[in-house]
Amino acid sequence: MAVTLYWMQAGGCSGDSMSLLNANSPDLLEILQELDVDLLWHSSLSVANRTSQRALLERLQSGEQRLDVLCVEGAVIRGPGGTGMYDTLHGQAKKNLIWALAHKAKHVIAIGTCASHGGISARGDVEGTGLQYHGRKRGGFLGEDFVAGCGLPVVNLPGCPVHPSVVTQALSAVVHGATLDLDAWQAPTAWYGTTVHQGCTRNEYHEYRVEEREFGEKGCMFFHMGCNGPLVRGPCNKLLWNGRSSKTRVGVPCFGCTDPDFPKSFPFFQTRNIEGLPIDLPDGINRAHYLAYKGMAAAAAPERLKGRESNI
Ligand code: SF4
Repeated sequence: MAVTLYWMQAGGCSGDSMSLLNANSPDLLEILQELDVDLLWHSSLSVANRTSQRALLERLQSGEQRLDVLCVEGAVIRGPGGTGMYDTLHGQAKKNLIWALAHKAKHVIAIGTCASHGGISARGDVEGTGLQYHGRKRGGFLGEDFVAGCGLPVVNLPGCPVHPSVVTQALSAVVHGATLDLDAWQAPTAWYGTTVHQGCTRNEYHEYRVEEREFGEKGCMFFHMGCNGPLVRGPCNKLLWNGRSSKTRVGVPCFGCTDPDFPKSFPFFQTRNIEGLPIDLPDGINRAHYLAYKGMAAAAAPERLKGRESNI
């Protein structure tokens, strides 16, 4: 029996869907076919007239149409004044549809940082929130105790946008009944169990504190250029974008887009420092020890690195 999937776009930019269209080996159509997924609806990709789309929603809400997987992309918009009428479908607040469908679905997946934690959509006046988190606080729209029909809470796949392979591989796991090991933010450890820093090709520069201060220099971007690589967990540098590269590999700092607090209120491309040492250090690091270690490491840096003779 085919697995039924409904993809709801809520308060977001549709960037996760655009990212998903870049999936390759397999691409989106291949994965749907391979997994025998019946895509009931995708807000950007499906075509249906208003009447049949409404009828589908009614059948889903009544239970006449089985719903195996609900994917929600974008934050749940609750404004103005808790009505949700800033974001509607067929005259109904989408938040009410999301609530109804989430309570019918076997699996609920939050696609991207806005759906997972609220993201940029929670920063304005639209009362946006994530499905089961608001920033770092558990609860969000569906509440702390929500579990889908399978007994699991919302599975969060943060990223701005989320990497397409994370979505296709998570779908594959869900369809095959594989157990997804979730971290403290309900994100699968398979893709969110390592930092972006692990796997960055600039690691040797980081190790010896060879710092980049201007774009285009070769060096680590943690100390001055705002790189969040050692601070956040996510699949970048483990899964390359377009199968080729990543931000940090081409000299753009990691913005920390998978982080529950993304986006932070201070500027990108700039590290907040005290005495040349970043204010935000990786979890569990003793500041004094780190300062001493990085001082010694910089003194020990090989000439090859100081001269930026690497290809990276
Ligand atoms: S550029 Fe960022 S991710 Fe790469 S080594 Fe430096 S801190 Fe780590």
